[in-house]
Amino acid sequence: MSDTAIKNSEDQQMFGHPKGLFYLFFAELWERFSFYGMRALLTLYMIDHIFEAIVERDTATAVVYASYGSLVYASTVIGGQISDKIMGMRSSIFLGGILMALGHFVLAVENDIAFFLALAFIVVGNGFFKPNISTFVGALYKEGDVRKDSGFTIFYMGINIGGFVAPLLCGWLALKYGYHYGFGLAGIGMMAGLIFFWSGIKKNVFGDKGMPPSKEIYEKKILGIPQKTLIPIISVLFVPVIAYLLSSWKANYVSGIFKFIGFAVLAYLVYIMVKLDSDARKKLIMAVLITFFMTLFWGFHELSGSVITLFASRNVALDGIMTAAQTNALNSMFIIFLAIPISLLWGYLAKKGLNPRTPYKFGLGLLLAGVCFYILSISGASADENGMVPFAYLLIMYFILSIGELFMSPVGLSKITDLSPKNIVAFMMGVWFLSSAFAFQIVGFIGEQLAVESTDKNVGGLETLTIYTDGFHLIAMYALGAGAIVLLFSPLMKKLLGNVH
Ligand code: GLN
Repeated sequence: MSDTAIKNSEDQQMFGHPKGLFYLFFAELWERFSFYGMRALLTLYMIDHIFEAIVERDTATAVVYASYGSLVYASTVIGGQISDKIMGMRSSIFLGGILMALGHFVLAVENDIAFFLALAFIVVGNGFFKPNISTFVGALYKEGDVRKDSGFTIFYMGINIGGFVAPLLCGWLALKYGYHYGFGLAGIGMMAGLIFFWSGIKKNVFGDKGMPPSKEIYEKKILGIPQKTLIPIISVLFVPVIAYLLSSWKANYVSGIFKFIGFAVLAYLVYIMVKLDSDARKKLIMAVLITFFMTLFWGFHELSGSVITLFASRNVALDGIMTAAQTNALNSMFIIFLAIPISLLWGYLAKKGLNPRTPYKFGLGLLLAGVCFYILSISGASADENGMVPFAYLLIMYFILSIGELFMSPVGLSKITDLSPKNIVAFMMGVWFLSSAFAFQIVGFIGEQLAVESTDKNVGGLETLTIYTDGFHLIAMYALGAGAIVLLFSPLMKKLLGNVH
C-alpha cells in the first residue's frame, strides 16, 4: 500500500476516533448478534429437542453447553496464533466469519447430526474471528494513545447491542415459528457483520493494518498448496472432529482436553516469560493474573446461558414480560446503559489520581458476582405457592452482574493489548479468551450439580426451586471469597509488579 493510502486511513477520524473503529464496531455487533442469538436458544433447544427423551437431559445439556463454550473460546488461541504468524487479521476475520455463518445456517437444519456439525463450525469460525477483531481495535491506536480505552468501551457497546437485540428477536422467532428460524436469523446477522467488515476494507479505513505479517509465508506452499488456502482447508477438516467431541457428552472428552490445554498454555507462557526482559515479564505476569481472575468471573457470569436460563424458565414468574430465552438480553441491556458512565467514571477518577489499579477493579467485580448469586439465592423466600419467584430478582441480578462485568471485561480487553509483548499480542488475546474457555468448564461443572433428572417438559416450580436457590447460595460464597482474596492480595501485587497494572 502506498504511503498516501496509509496516511489517508490514519487521518480518517469519526467522533474523535479512527474511522476504522466504527466498521469494526458494526462487524462485531452483527457477529455477536449471531453468537448471542444462538446462545439464547441453545440450552432450551437441547432440553426441548436434542435430549428431550432422556432422563439425564439436564446433565447432557450442561456438558454439551460447556464443551461448546470452552471450545468456542479456546479456538481463539489457535486463531490468534495463526493470524500473528501467517494469515494476518483481515483474512482471519473473513475466514472466521464465513465459517460461523455456515454454522448458523446448518443449525437451521432440523437434524441432530447437523446440530453438532453446526456447533463445530461456530467453534472453528469464532477462533479466527473473535481474537482478531478485538486485536484489530487495539491496532487502530498508536502506543500510549489515551483514546484506546474509550475505543474499547465503544467496541464493547457494539458487542452488547448485538447481545441485546439478538436474544429478543431470535427468542421471539423461536417461540412463534420454531427454533430453526431463530438460528437462521443468527446466520443472517453474521453475514451482515462480514459485509460491514468488507465495506471498511473497500473504503480503506484500516490503512495497512491487519495484513499478513509476511507475504512469502502467507503464500508459501506446503504439499503444493499455499498456506493461505491450506489453512481454510484444514479448518474445515477439523469440523467433524470437533462435532464428534461435542456429541460424546457421556465421555466428556473436552473436559480432559482442557486440562491438557491449561498445562500447555501455561508452559508456553513460562517459556516466553523466561526469554523476556524484566519489564516485559512483569507486564506478562499481570496479563496472566488478570486473565485468571477473569476466568473466575466468567465462570459465574456464563451461567446465564445455562443454569440461569433454566432457572428463568422453571422458577421465575416471567408473566409474559419475556420468554426465558429472551432473559439473555438483560445483561447486554444493562451494559449498554452502564458502559459509558462507568468508563467516564474511570476517566474522572484518573484525573483526580484516584483511578483504582486493575486488580482492585477485578476484585470488586468478583465481589459483585457474589452479590448477584446471593440475590438469586434469597429469591426463594419470595416465591409464590407454585415455586415461582418475582422477575425483579432476575432483573436486579443482571444489573449488578453487568456492573461487575464492566469493572473487568473491557478494562482487561484494553489492558491485554497494552501488557503483551508486541509480537504475541494476538496470541495473548487468545489467552485472554481462554479465560472464557476455562470458565465454561466451571459452568459445566455447576450445571451438572444443579441438573434435574426428568423428562417432563414442564418440570419446575416447587420441584426445582431449592435445587437452584441452594446452588446459588454456594456459588455466592465462592464468588465473594474469590473477590475478597483478590482484594487482599492487590497490595502484594503492587509490591511485586510496581508500576505495571
Ligand atoms: N460479552 C463479551 C463478548 O461477547 C465477553 C464474552 C466473554 O469473553 N465471555 O465479547
